[in-house]
This record gives sequence, C-alpha cells and structure tokens, in this order.
Amino acid sequence: MARIMVFSPHPDDGVIGCGGSIINHVKKGDDVTIVYMTSGDAGSLRVSKKALGRIREEEAKNAGRILGVKELVFLRNPDGYLEYKKDNFVNIISLIRRKKPNLVYIPHKDESHRDHTKTFELASDAVERAGCLWFQECNGKPWKVDSVLCYEVWTPLRDVTYVEDITETIDRKLAAIIEHKSQIQNHRYDEAAKSLNKYRGIMMGKGGYSECFQILKTNRVKKKKQQRSTKKKRPASHLPRLSSYGILEYFSVVERH
Ligand SMILES: [Zn+2]
Repeated sequence: MARIMVFSPHPDDGVIGCGGSIINHVKKGDDVTIVYMTSGDAGSLRVSKKALGRIREEEAKNAGRILGVKELVFLRNPDGYLEYKKDNFVNIISLIRRKKPNLVYIPHKDESHRDHTKTFELASDAVERAGCLWFQECNGKPWKVDSVLCYEVWTPLRDVTYVEDITETIDRKLAAIIEHKSQIQNHRYDEAAKSLNKYRGIMMGKGGYSECFQILKTNRVKKKKQQRSTKKKRPASHLPRLSSYGILEYFSVVERH
C-alpha cells in the first residue's frame, strides 16, 4: 500500500488534474489525502466569501466520497492570494511528516493561474524541506517523499513524462467533478477534463482516456539507476521500464511500498 498526497489550489483542481489516477490508487488499496490550499471562496459576485468557502468545502467532501479519498485537509488560505510564506510551509511540512506520503501530486509549474503556480512552489519546496533535519518549528521527524508528479488543469503540459490510463475510471472522475456544482454552473469543467483526457488517451496511445503528468522527482528511479551502474546485476524487473513512447513506467516501483 502506498500513501498518496494531492495538493489542490482550489477544491476542484485535484479531481480535474488527477481524479482518475486517485481512483486507480484507491482501487489498489492506497491511502489518499487531498490538501486544499484555498477553499475557492473568491469565485462568486453573489455569494459571500464565507458562505462560498463553506459550500465549496462541502462539494469537495462529496467529490472525495466518490473518489474514495480517506482524508481531506482544508488549509483555508484566501482564494487568489496564496502566498509563499512561513505559515504555509510549517503547515505543509508538518502534514508531510505526519502522513508520510510516498507519492505527491501537485499542479505543474507553468499553470496560468497564480494560485496554481504558488501551490507548485510551496508544495515542491515543502517536499524537499520535510526530508531534511532543519526547520524544527515544524512537527514530526524528517520524511523523504519518493516521487512527485505534476498535473495539468488550466495549461496543458508540453513535456509529458508519465501517462496514467484512466479509461476504467473516467465516469467516476466526471461524477466527482460534477459534485463541484458551484463551479460547474459557471464553466463545464467536466467536459473540459473529459475532452483533454480523451485527447491524451489517443495521442499517447495509452487507451480511451488518460491523465498526463510531468515527473518532478523520483528518488527510487534514481536509486535504481545507481544500482544499474554497480557490478552486481539486478533482475530486469527491478528496473524502471521505458514504454515504446519513451514514457517512464515507474508506478511498478512505487507500488511496492
Ligand atoms: Zn484552481
């Protein structure tokens, strides 16, 4: 069983970017936590921020039940003003040290929405800091995250280095997106996700629907590469495989936790 942590700038992003992969993890018995950096409280001119934040957290809980996620964490930063600051680092590093994730999902660094790029900066740096001896103001012992995958929401990835086939889970993913009713009434994000995942499935040759990612970090793969260079021969099955499209098939490595 692997422990998975998903960082979502707003309540709908995690499910749009990697909802199918989350369901695949849950099916394998993995433990998934979603961390919401903001509660999406700035998304209406008619509803107050306080009321909208509550509505969107309820929507995230409903979507989380469909995905099968065990724990949701709401950090409640102000929507639109996410900052690279100490409080956020202490919270995120403490969380990583408590939950000990093997694999972390974050938005990729070139997303066009500012809260998304801030989430990338905060979460990717927190992953590194959580693993070292410093930052004693954070709770817990140092924990090294094995792998970080970056997902796409607003801006499709140019350089894809990992593809997850979500053909079997696309319907549940879309049902989870639709639970974000206050968001769907403005924009049909379910249709956008379905179209992008279909495009990815066809163009990557993986299946009907796929989610695409950029691999930011894979300690385990590095370790395996180092093992390759030593004189001791290892069975080929212990090494990461390259698919015919040159995409690193490293999940077989992560699965062994
Ligand atoms: Zn967002």
